[in-house]
Amino acid sequence: MLAGRVALVTGGGSGIGRAVCHLLAREGAAVAVVDINKEAAQETLDRLPKGNHAFCADVSSSSSVKELLKQIKTSFHTVPSIAVNSAGITKDKMMLKMDEESFSKVIDVNIKGTFLVSQAVSQAMLAEKISNGSIINISSIVGKVGNIGQVNYAASKAGVIGLTKTAAKELAGFGIRVNAVLPGFIQTPMTDVVPKNVIEILLQLIPLGKMGQPEDVAEACLFLASDRSKYITGTTIEVAGGLFA
Ligand code: NAD
Repeated sequence: MLAGRVALVTGGGSGIGRAVCHLLAREGAAVAVVDINKEAAQETLDRLPKGNHAFCADVSSSSSVKELLKQIKTSFHTVPSIAVNSAGITKDKMMLKMDEESFSKVIDVNIKGTFLVSQAVSQAMLAEKISNGSIINISSIVGKVGNIGQVNYAASKAGVIGLTKTAAKELAGFGIRVNAVLPGFIQTPMTDVVPKNVIEILLQLIPLGKMGQPEDVAEACLFLASDRSKYITGTTIEVAGGLFA
């Protein structure tokens, strides 16, 4: 489905980002695995076929993102026509106890990081006259309904939806589609820390009765990356087993 395409995947060193790297590569894309954790990005790359590359970058830093785009062009001799923004963090606290630093850090990585990568990638796509660009932002079901203890995270993920819808409108005329995926409760290192009793409560709320796997989210990303979704932009797809649908 993606032969001849270059795909940039942030957060590619773990969880959902890693599953996206695997699936896009299996469908023929050359993948730029991007993560702030160099070893983790390399570990993902080690399990991919030849022709892919790993990069260490901090999505919340504009200079790091600019440098990343330069390195990708040097390695692949072209720019990405697909970008999946999966890098994300949590710093959970109840709102009454939330400190400014934890609030700002989550906003910086989850919203500003998505903005910086989307802006740099779309500028590069325009410069190379790419006419089938696809940007996929990993938001969260929490951005739709909120979640106790995650005022910073929920705000960031709601922000990603607004960013997605705006970028979709601004970039449609240039042949670049922008969509968001809203995962529910997915089994990754991010959710490994959730206490057992909370998991049991959540499972009762999920109509499909189980946690999702990173591969379930990757399948939605593949659809949005490929030309099979060529008339879809500015929308959100929930991959949540029916949770809060
Ligand atoms: P994860 O912690 O397994 O992976 C996140 C990756 O992002 C890590 O490899 C980390 O090193 C990288 N990263 C963090 N900060 C970065 C930065 N500044 N620059 C570059 N890379 C950075 O988490 P995951 O569960 O795979 O989550 C992936 C995305 O999906 C996140 O945006 C998360 O908010 C979202 N999400 C996850 C779930 C879930 O249940 N796991 C649910 C909804 C949304």
